[in-house]
Amino acid sequence: MLEVELKKITEKVSYFHGSVNIGYLRLSSEEGMLIDAGLDDQAMKKVIKQLKEQSLPISHLFITHAHADHYGGAAYLQEKQDVYTFAPEFEAAILQNPMIEPLYLFHGVHPIAEWRNKFLEGKPVRIDSVLQKEGVVRIGNTVFQTIALPGHSYNQFGVIFDDILFATDGYFGIEALEKHGIPFIVDAAQTIETLEKLTKLPCKGAVPGHGSYEEAYVQTVEKNLDVHKEIEHFIHEQVKANPDGIALEKLVTIACLSKGIQIKNAPSFMLFRTAVTAYLTKLMKQNQVCFVVEQNQLLVVSSSK
Ligand SMILES: [Zn+2]
Repeated sequence: MLEVELKKITEKVSYFHGSVNIGYLRLSSEEGMLIDAGLDDQAMKKVIKQLKEQSLPISHLFITHAHADHYGGAAYLQEKQDVYTFAPEFEAAILQNPMIEPLYLFHGVHPIAEWRNKFLEGKPVRIDSVLQKEGVVRIGNTVFQTIALPGHSYNQFGVIFDDILFATDGYFGIEALEKHGIPFIVDAAQTIETLEKLTKLPCKGAVPGHGSYEEAYVQTVEKNLDVHKEIEHFIHEQVKANPDGIALEKLVTIACLSKGIQIKNAPSFMLFRTAVTAYLTKLMKQNQVCFVVEQNQLLVVSSSK
């Protein structure tokens, strides 16, 4: 559950530390911006209450990417008060049409009710400003910086303000990294490029989407890099060990078993399937593996015989 204590990082920057973090930037005496909105109405209620108690304004909302744990509380906030809402391009389209997530996870089929749970689909969010590119965003006399962090989702953006980076799911805290085993990604090459970009950012400290604020965040980012490289290597080795090819679904099972993951339900299987496929597409672009269909079965085979 989300703690209601607002943790202060600098005079202008704080965050609600919970299972998913919510950033808070004090833009001016009358303006404040939340970075992400938590999983649901309950989480947002606690955030609003806490900010009210401390007389801190909420005038703006920045949604980093269209995953329900990061935007599920946004519609409630928009119902309760007037907030000007930013989101990166593409992510904005999903935020406005949130059924797209269960739709894409389940191969485009109209999802049944149990696949449309709050972890996969929140209420639609109104987006006032769609951000095309990373860069400076001006609000009155204040500016904040956005940074493109693709890989975990198609067009995720982080935020930098007062020298503090909100990296969202650009990397995970160590505990979250271990808990997930195989972190959700849609593009392994971009995930690695994003992590390398994060190691070079000269920020005072960083807050991940899941984990704690750290000044020594580069070490954590490097651990994320190690994990992704290790998973990619494992998947590649499994494909090479099966000269006749291996069914994609079997590869998902083996990759999860190797990490001690017990997949609990169909949506969760689909999330791991997406991540495993994202490592495969990296290997495909490097001509290391390819998909073949044999006897009506989709198989992954090694390209280097
Ligand atoms: Zn996410």
